[in-house]
Formats: sequence, structure tokens, C-alpha cells
Amino acid sequence: ELNKRTYLTVELGLQTIHEVTALMINRGHNLKCFDDMVAKLHQRKINIVVHIINGLPYETKEMMIETIKHLNRLPIQGIKIHMLHILKKTKLAEIFAKNPFPILTKEQYVNIVCDQLENLRPEIVINRITGDPKVEDLIEPTWLIRKFGVLNDIDSELLSRNTYQGFNQSILNQARRLIENNTKDNDLTVDATIGNGYDTLFLSQLTPKGHVFGFDIQEVAIANTTKLLNDYHLNNYTLYLNNHQQMAEILAAYHHKISTIIFNLGYLPKGDKKITTTSDETITAIKAGYTLLNDKGIIIIIVYPGHPAGLEESIKLKEFLTDYNHEYYYNTDNLEAPYLIQIKKS
Ligand code: SAM
Repeated sequence: ELNKRTYLTVELGLQTIHEVTALMINRGHNLKCFDDMVAKLHQRKINIVVHIINGLPYETKEMMIETIKHLNRLPIQGIKIHMLHILKKTKLAEIFAKNPFPILTKEQYVNIVCDQLENLRPEIVINRITGDPKVEDLIEPTWLIRKFGVLNDIDSELLSRNTYQGFNQSILNQARRLIENNTKDNDLTVDATIGNGYDTLFLSQLTPKGHVFGFDIQEVAIANTTKLLNDYHLNNYTLYLNNHQQMAEILAAYHHKISTIIFNLGYLPKGDKKITTTSDETITAIKAGYTLLNDKGIIIIIVYPGHPAGLEESIKLKEFLTDYNHEYYYNTDNLEAPYLIQIKKS
């Protein structure tokens, strides 16, 4: 009724999705109760803003990020992120006095908030990112009083990471971050599926004193990539109109010298959807690529199981990889969702 008459937002205090913490802080309701209420408000088209607290007793960074990931799946419009305040004359102050638990430093808080923002769905509006308690009430943490210091540090941290809200929702961003962490400016790298050239461009810019070798079986891919890199005045690359299965022979001079190989599987965006990577060829090419890697080398594979050849490729790849040191990212129960694999030589 109210929502029909006026602009209405309901704020819900979740604080954490973890029941052990909720019991400890005497929140008084469980996660299911919160989720049900979100569903009921959503049914009535009422805006929802959720409060969460970082730094609750004994919560790890991973737990705080899990709270964000849970909220990403819910139909909420806004979020308020707080640091835990320990205020005088409260139950929490008594607990803290008897049994002091670790309090986040400002640097830890900033770091966690930035990780949370990178994971937060971009459409969720951030209503608040730090609190401002009254000085006379506050026991810990005292750094909270300088509110703009916290806000500035969050800005600077995101700038230095070169990331933003929702950054981690993009598989390509995550792939590029893994590559950046592993690549020096004089490294030799391989783009096993150049397509329209965006990954080749990324690798070429990342290794101005190095070189990128690219493979594709379509002439249009070679043409598009050559044009793209020329537009950027880059010349530290060589492209081969060859099947990536042949990369070990073609790059025989570079055995144990390549730091990063990327496979962006599937078909050429805006191209012929019938020409796609296939499980047998991809597996042969990964084996070949592995022999080219240096001791710290990595292979990054972006898999798209949402089309028939992609699903088969994904299933075969997972079987094949059991013999390799590898890690999955974004690998969910949804068998058709794209995901990322990192294979490490060491
Ligand atoms: N990295 C690309 C970009 O940034 O635009 C997108 C790559 S696209 C998803 C996959 C590409 O793999 C297609 O251009 C396709 O022609 C190529 N491809 C398919 N099978 C291949 C093979 N056996 N060897 C090399 N490239 C292949």
C-alpha cells in the first residue's frame, strides 16, 4: 500500500550470511528468514537495500566475499557496507573487553572492500562504504573516525589495481589478471586462437620488449588481428595461419621459453559459427603448448560450453586435465556457463 503511494525502500540488516557469526552477534534471525523477506519485498516491487558488516568476530576475508556473492544472486537494489564498530556500553564492548578478537586494520578493511567491489554485481547501487560513528562512543577501530581517509584509500586502491565494481564478473578480466600476474614486459607469449585479435592486442601491449605468436585457421582472423595491432602501431607479433596443434613444431626454437599461452575457445564472434575449436584439436594443442612453457609458464583457457561443440569440448577437457596442475574459475553447477582454466607448469 505504502509502495503505491510513495517512493519506498526497505533496508534489511543482514550483516553476514554465516550462521555461526549471526548466532554470536545475536542477530535474531537466520539466512532463510532474510532470503524469504527479500523474495516477499521483491514480489511487491519494493526496493531493497542490504546492510553488511565487515570485520565481524572471527570472519575471514573469504567469508566476507561469500556474503557478497550470495547477495549478487538476490533481486536487491542497494548495499551499505560497514566496518564493525565496537561502541561503549554495548554487549559487544563487554565481549571484546573479556575476550578481545582481532580488529581489521584500515589497510585490511580497504583491501577487503575492494575485493568485495570487484565481485559485486555492477547494478547494485552502493549506498555506503564506510560508517561514521560518534567519536565519544567508539572503542575500536579508531581509524574509522577519519572517514574521508578510508574513502580515499578505497579509491586509490581500485585505481592502483585498475579494477572497478563487478570487475570479477567478467571472465575475460579475470583471465587478463592471471596473465598480468605472470607476465613480464620481455616475455614471449602465445595466443592460440587469435580471432578478432583482442587477446593478441592485450598480450602485445603487456610485453613491449617481448613477442606474441598467434595462431588461427581462418584468414579473416589473421586480417582482423593484423589491422587491429597496426592501428595500435604494434609490431612485436607474428601470426600464423595454422592449426594450433602445430604450435610446438612451428615454435620449435622457443621450447621452455614461453611464459603464457591463451586459448579463447569456440567460434569467431561475428564470424562463421560452424568453424569452432574442437576437443581433439584443443587437447593436442594444449599438450603441444605445455612443452613450450618455461618453468613458471601458464596456459589460460576460456571455455564456452553453451553451444553443442563447446559442451563436448568442455567435458573432454575436464577429463584430460586430471593429469595436469590446474585450477578452475567460475566453474558452477550450470553446465552451459562459460568458465576459466589455469594450467601451471610448476
Ligand atoms: N581471442 C579472440 C579474440 O580476442 O577475438 C577470440 C577467439 S574465437 C572465440 C576462437 C577462434 O579460434 C576462432 O577465430 C577460430 O577460427 C579459431 N580456431 C578454431 N579452431 C582452431 C584451431 N584448431 N587452431 C587455431 N585456431 C582455431
